Amino acid sequence: MKWQKILNEIRQEIQPELGNGKVANYIPALSEADPKAFGMAVVTTDGEIFTAGNATEPFSIQSISKVLTLTLALGFENENLFERVGREPSGSAFNSIVQLEQEGGIPRNPFINAGAIVVTDTIITHCNRQSGADLILDLARKLSCSGRVRVDDEVARSEALWGNRNRSLAYFMKSFGVLKNDPEEVLQAYFCQCALEMTCTELARAGLYLANDGVDPVSGEQVATHAHVNRINALMMTCGHYDMSGDFAFHVGLPGKSGVGGGILAIVPGVCAVAVWSPALNKAGNSLAGTLALELFSEKTSLNLF
Ligand code: GLU
Repeated sequence: MKWQKILNEIRQEIQPELGNGKVANYIPALSEADPKAFGMAVVTTDGEIFTAGNATEPFSIQSISKVLTLTLALGFENENLFERVGREPSGSAFNSIVQLEQEGGIPRNPFINAGAIVVTDTIITHCNRQSGADLILDLARKLSCSGRVRVDDEVARSEALWGNRNRSLAYFMKSFGVLKNDPEEVLQAYFCQCALEMTCTELARAGLYLANDGVDPVSGEQVATHAHVNRINALMMTCGHYDMSGDFAFHVGLPGKSGVGGGILAIVPGVCAVAVWSPALNKAGNSLAGTLALELFSEKTSLNLF
């Protein structure tokens, strides 16, 4: 496959869309991103890397970190994790609290904020001397093979300062007994994971185990079991794009997880991991140009799973 040619074409064709949409502004630290920035990286299971645009500029991965934390939590708890978090699309906003009350404090899935906070709570339960935030950072560094990956302290502080909705979700779940640890400790790790800063190349590299049955094809290390990877990819397909997950599956046909920093990680099982970044978001909070770039990618490569 002529990967580089395809990425060059996508970069060309996406040009008129750059800047359409709105950069996230729920925290000041994110609102300064350049709406017209664009980067894309493909890392194949053979370990080859192809890029277009600004694939080496770090950005805030935000909710894409929920894929990494889910991987850790499944490793710790296996299927028991699903006693405290569901696996259905929510049909509500990513930070909605209404459904939580109706459903006994059990979040619909691990990719809405409440669900991700439960997942991070699980990690806190199992990390020994290390803090939850450090454990997550270490995993991101290991999987991306990049010691450059870091938590952007300004974004983390901003998340904490403007994090009253997430704080409400955490305390609400604590009142139901769903959260096991001190909500403040869980939130601190959660805010840090949202503030992880990675490039497209690092992110695609980090997601490669999801394209290869849980084994990092380059290092040979087993990151997750085959069964866990099936679960994670299924959840990415059904719940990875907020309230537009159906639309993403419809148009792109790949498991994917987006974040309000404008990044998306998509997986082509057996073939490659793809990361795109463009900060201007569509109405559901997904990168507008990033989503279109992935749609072009699945069309041009015929890698749409359906
Ligand atoms: N830091 C965001 C929050 O928890 C995550 C948003 C996202 O990327 O979905 O509100």
